[in-house]
Amino acid sequence: MADEKDYYSILGVSKNATKDEIKKAYRELAKKYHPDLHPENRKEYEEKFKEISEAYEVLMDDDKRRIYDQYGSEGVKFGPQGFDWNNFTHYDDIQDLFNQFFKNMGFGSIFEDERQNIRFVVNIDLKDAYNGTTKNISYEREVICPDCNGTGAKNGKTRKCPTCNGTGQVRNVRSMGFMQYVSVQPCPACNGRGYIIEEKCPRCKGKGKIIVKENLEVNIPKGADDGLNLRIRGKGPGSKNGNGDLIITIHVNQDPVYKRDGDDLYTEIDIPFTKAALGTEISLEHISGENLNIKIPPGTQPGEIIRIKNKGMPKFNSRGYGDLLIKINVTIPKNLTQRQRELLMELDNEPERKGFFHSRFK
Ligand SMILES: [Zn+2]
Ligand SMILES: [Zn+2]
Repeated sequence: MADEKDYYSILGVSKNATKDEIKKAYRELAKKYHPDLHPENRKEYEEKFKEISEAYEVLMDDDKRRIYDQYGSEGVKFGPQGFDWNNFTHYDDIQDLFNQFFKNMGFGSIFEDERQNIRFVVNIDLKDAYNGTTKNISYEREVICPDCNGTGAKNGKTRKCPTCNGTGQVRNVRSMGFMQYVSVQPCPACNGRGYIIEEKCPRCKGKGKIIVKENLEVNIPKGADDGLNLRIRGKGPGSKNGNGDLIITIHVNQDPVYKRDGDDLYTEIDIPFTKAALGTEISLEHISGENLNIKIPPGTQPGEIIRIKNKGMPKFNSRGYGDLLIKINVTIPKNLTQRQRELLMELDNEPERKGFFHSRFK
């Protein structure tokens, strides 16, 4: 585990930190590390900022935190490239932070691109993740009104706004002591458009955008892991700068039998101690649906792990499979029949008898 990350120490919180403590620590660090505050070594702070955000993303999510506590950061895979801003679901937390601390300072720009996308969470079962699946999703998105080309004016007919002279912005200058604050705001006369609409476009009622319903069939590839983001270009909200993307985040439901760790699958089976001692063969329904015959060798110990090559998850975006690891739990009967009791007594006495024999015939 070369890339193992300690999310707790990254945020400087204890292993049993509450969400409030995590949030507080993150806010402090976000203020300190924001790349816009460090133009001289911006790249370095972008990385730091991303790192604390990754830690925050994991520790604020109960599922992800549990997996992380159990399996480490390797268990919380954010797709093949690792964590990126598409995986970050707490923009609102940060937005709020920036509004509070960095008002009118032009912060938060790194998220602007992301906010033009539509995010969708699709729940699938582990079985679907194994086999690959398709999901139909319906959603609504805003697109530029084709009738007025987004102007909001009937047939696109507009005239330049005299208040802002077509710029769409007005400047406000405010003085406090010897300091002058200049803020640029959208022109109130034209709502920041820069032009005046004589007659509203009937289709979009002057908004310049219309809502369209989308129905998409999304292919979820084999091996898709929890937290994987699938980006469908151009299917997000429309704007003057083009269409945003639809980002589908895969959430894999917990399976009652199999647990996943990277490409490997884990399960446990119970066998009676007699079978563990004598060896046996058991049938196990694999996540693929097929039946596996598992050989339990004689003398199998409690907690022993049987590894079956290539029966784990299919590797995402690659060939091959992980392994299946089966932990053997050995069960001891709580109540014995008379016959079982006699047999066990006999077994229990065996070493003594042997000793008796040895001494007698020496
Ligand atoms: Zn229109
Ligand atoms: Zn104007």
